[in-house]
Amino acid sequence: MKIKILLKQHVGAHCKATVKIGQEIKKGELIAEPEGLGANIHSSVYGKVIDINDAIVIDMANEQPKYFIPIADTSCNIEAVKDAGVVGAGGAGFPTHVKLNAKLNDGYVLVNAAECEPILKHNIKLIEEKAELLIRGLKYAMEMTKAKKAYIAIKPKHKKAIINLGKIVKSEQNIEIKFLPNMYPAGDERVIVREMLGVELEPGQLPSAANAVVFNVETLKNVALAIEKRRPVITKDVTVGGRVKGDVDGEVFMDMPIGMPINHCINLAGGVEKNSGEIVVGGPFTGIAAHENSPISKTTGGILVGMVFPNDNRKFGILACECGAQEDRLAEIVAGMGGTVVASEKCKRMVEVNGRYRCDKPGECPGQTETILKLKKAGAKAIIVGTCED
Ligand code: SF4
Repeated sequence: MKIKILLKQHVGAHCKATVKIGQEIKKGELIAEPEGLGANIHSSVYGKVIDINDAIVIDMANEQPKYFIPIADTSCNIEAVKDAGVVGAGGAGFPTHVKLNAKLNDGYVLVNAAECEPILKHNIKLIEEKAELLIRGLKYAMEMTKAKKAYIAIKPKHKKAIINLGKIVKSEQNIEIKFLPNMYPAGDERVIVREMLGVELEPGQLPSAANAVVFNVETLKNVALAIEKRRPVITKDVTVGGRVKGDVDGEVFMDMPIGMPINHCINLAGGVEKNSGEIVVGGPFTGIAAHENSPISKTTGGILVGMVFPNDNRKFGILACECGAQEDRLAEIVAGMGGTVVASEKCKRMVEVNGRYRCDKPGECPGQTETILKLKKAGAKAIIVGTCED
């Protein structure tokens, strides 16, 4: 099998390969380094490098021992996280060691356990099965940032995970479980800060403005593994769902090798149903179209198989949301149906900050009647929306 490890799996520039074509490599071996903001990349398998382009392509060896090359032994925990190439596993891919450098004297570490997108469930499964790993990662993060308090932001519907967490957290003075509203996009960083701390961040403002940092569940798992096992980030937890023969509501596969084609996970879930449509990587709201050989990366969360697009050659209006599908994605869906886009609008809460549109109040979604009428006036006979609510 060919493994394709992308050279950009994080915020920042592409990493520079540190291996050459023809080189034999081991699992855990450093294969690429950032040039500026970014994170180290390690091989997830034993094998031989057969190509280097926007990814390092590895011909996987038949024998795959469990042993991996550990990162260097350092007494500095932030160095360990940096060496291990930990990035935000929830999708953003921001290098974790940079966030851990924040000094939050009397501040907060917030854990994003919202698992906000429908179908996805690998973070909640991790809490249900290995909550202690998350709590250890969280305690390291608190120690490194000097935070006084941590809140685990979770929706009340995840009862099993909450019970499991509660058993551990009850003996922790500075860690508390707090509930998020059961809505999308409760997992947005600004919603988490608002719900946990009561601080309303401006669009574009970072949680640091509220003396806080936010980490995803799997990111903290990777922090704990980097420090305790010297394990670089070589695997990813994923949820496979949609039109697959297994569990349509999503089946979790823990620790899938990074670089593995997503089709491998789809086959593990039972393969695709007849009359299936596109494959989407990410969640149903914000996922992007992929193909069966697209590789798993450090930020892959969901692998979803969609239905076949209905044929609809009408004129479409697009209504985009910052926290949901953006114009490009909605236009892609219209094209998939055979329709034409005649007008495009954004939710009225979206404001431009430094050249990027952001939501003014995520989750406090307004009615969209005015915008719909505008789209109709522009000739739209049907509207496709990325907004979460109306
Ligand atoms: S207010 Fe608008 S842009 Fe913000 S989350 Fe709601 S629908 Fe999306």
